[in-house]
Amino acid sequence: MVDLALLTAGSKAISNLYSSVKALIDVKKDLDVLDKLEQILELKGTLLDAKEEILTLREQLQEHEQAKKYAQDMKFDEKVGVYRGTDEGGNPLAYCQKCWGEHNRRAPLRIVEIGYTCATCRTNYRTPDKEVSPVKQPSSGW
Ligand SMILES: [Zn+2]
Repeated sequence: MVDLALLTAGSKAISNLYSSVKALIDVKKDLDVLDKLEQILELKGTLLDAKEEILTLREQLQEHEQAKKYAQDMKFDEKVGVYRGTDEGGNPLAYCQKCWGEHNRRAPLRIVEIGYTCATCRTNYRTPDKEVSPVKQPSSGW
């Protein structure tokens, strides 16, 4: 004789078990999706690092090419200790030896009473034919 209550309880237990297994499968799928998302995020990070490195290398290449182009134009003036060259418009200019030597940066020099001064590194260059007047010397940058 079949016990109806027992059969109902068994059926309910099987249904619950099925629901639990289905829930576990859903959790497993969610975990797989999370793993994939984590991998995607890692790849994005790697890609961003690579992009940043490419940008840095491009900048360095551009600086190097510009320095190479400038180097052909720059002539060292031993009397004053500055580089002579021309600006983009072809006008003759004096450039800071220190900035060029240390950073390959063309820093145009300002003409001052004793010769030239660099606004970037504050180095002063004295032209041999000009004498220093202590009264008129600027107080800043010396
Ligand atoms: Zn300088």
